[in-house]
Amino acid sequence: MRASVIGAGLAGSEAAWQLAQRGVEVTLYEMKPQRFSPAHKAAGFAELVCSNSLRSDRLENAVGLLKEEMRRVGSLVMEAADLARVPAGGSLAVDRERFSSHITGALESHKNVRVLRQEVFALPEGPVVVASGPLTDGPLLEAIQRETGREQLSFYDAAAPIVYKDSIDMDKAFRASRYGRGEEGGDYINCPMDRAQYETFYQALMEAKTAPVHGFEDSKVFEGCMPVEVMAKRGMQTLCFGPLKPKGLTDPRTGKMPYAVLQLRQDDAADTLYNLVGFQTRLLIPEQKRVFGLIPGLEKARYARFGAMHRNTFLNSPGLLDQDFRLREGLYFAGQMTGVEGYIESAASGLVAGVCLAAELAGRPRPDFTDETVLGAMGRYISTPNRHFQPMNANFGVMAELPRRVRNKQERYAAIAQRSLDKIAALLPEL
Ligand SMILES: Cc1cc2nc3c(=O)[nH]c(=O)nc-3n(C[C@H](O)[C@H](O)[C@H](O)COP(=O)(O)OP(=O)(O)OC[C@H]3O[C@@H](n4cnc5c(N)ncnc54)[C@H](O)[C@@H]3O)c2cc1C
Repeated sequence: MRASVIGAGLAGSEAAWQLAQRGVEVTLYEMKPQRFSPAHKAAGFAELVCSNSLRSDRLENAVGLLKEEMRRVGSLVMEAADLARVPAGGSLAVDRERFSSHITGALESHKNVRVLRQEVFALPEGPVVVASGPLTDGPLLEAIQRETGREQLSFYDAAAPIVYKDSIDMDKAFRASRYGRGEEGGDYINCPMDRAQYETFYQALMEAKTAPVHGFEDSKVFEGCMPVEVMAKRGMQTLCFGPLKPKGLTDPRTGKMPYAVLQLRQDDAADTLYNLVGFQTRLLIPEQKRVFGLIPGLEKARYARFGAMHRNTFLNSPGLLDQDFRLREGLYFAGQMTGVEGYIESAASGLVAGVCLAAELAGRPRPDFTDETVLGAMGRYISTPNRHFQPMNANFGVMAELPRRVRNKQERYAAIAQRSLDKIAALLPEL
């Protein structure tokens, strides 16, 4: 059994490891140090291009649970993370060099892995996992476009924040669709502002600190996905004619059209997540909490993901990839380019793709992680039809609901975690 993996980043390293551990002879292609993307600086594998934090390590957090699932399946990325851990409270942060060198060493010395330090220009013959990351470009990008269709790629991650529905204060917000269109009761959750509230919000937005955006310096990239704070700079009223337009909406509490309205749109099939429509942003994360928290109804909002903008090539995966990150027999994608977001999520998709390709090559059924595990739920998120598909971090909103309602949040998350780890334990013999 043989397979190729393109890219030894977070996803490709994990995919190669999972394949090799299952007896597949892997050729792992990595273009560094011959060529570096604008974000990569070091020659080692699984380079953390920005922060050294792999985020929460607590089971009551979805990304913490995802880590534990990966540990139990024998993840190389998690083994390296645990070895390279540095103190960071409830988070798992790592010494990035130690992390990368453990992964590089493990793969280079694995009897089933052959490392080729060269740029890939075309998809190799035979079974492949493509894990060349969000900055994929040049001939490889063109080869991917030929496989998937040109229109199936997005080039910027211009995501608006997503909040948990149960954290929106519905004593202030109301359900409605503009001009009463859509479902009865209204498709959107609307956060109304009077003039004073809008002015306070506007002022805070104008003064808020923004993050530098890699690969986004070119002003033309803002066409069509303009950050809300950039649009606001055009004038005090601009947002009231754009994403905060109140026309066609009546606040049932006042019987009047509000001065400005932020609309939130359902983001997941389970109806637990809502995105802030038109609020793609470059604000720093604490600033997003502070400034958007000034909008009535969002004071206590919990964020499933924050707004982000950076160059990010990703597939329009829904309808293209299946839940195992497979385009067709023998061709899998993994990592940020599939529409998962974050280091651990990227590695997790590599794990699923590697395990599933190994099963396919062995002529066995591919394991079903189901949406009771974060590993499986991420695959379902990227493959489920979604007209507004944007990359997504691990979060409990994409997982199957519990069969019974658990009101207490801590207990609910503990029950979700237990169910997931039981599922992984049951799957282990076939993995
Ligand atoms: C600028 C930037 C900052 C980010 N910061 C964070 C952060 O702080 N926290 C976080 O959780 N996520 C962050 N992300 C998002 C994401 O988690 C990372 O991009 C993550 O590294 C994605 O993993 P990956 O395996 O998909 O791709 P990568 O880790 O980028 O791996 C891709 C690998 O493929 C190689 N490659 C590419 N093309 C070829 C080719 N043609 N031939 C051979 N090899 C090739 C590359 O050299 C690279 O080693 C950031 C993304 C970017 C772009």
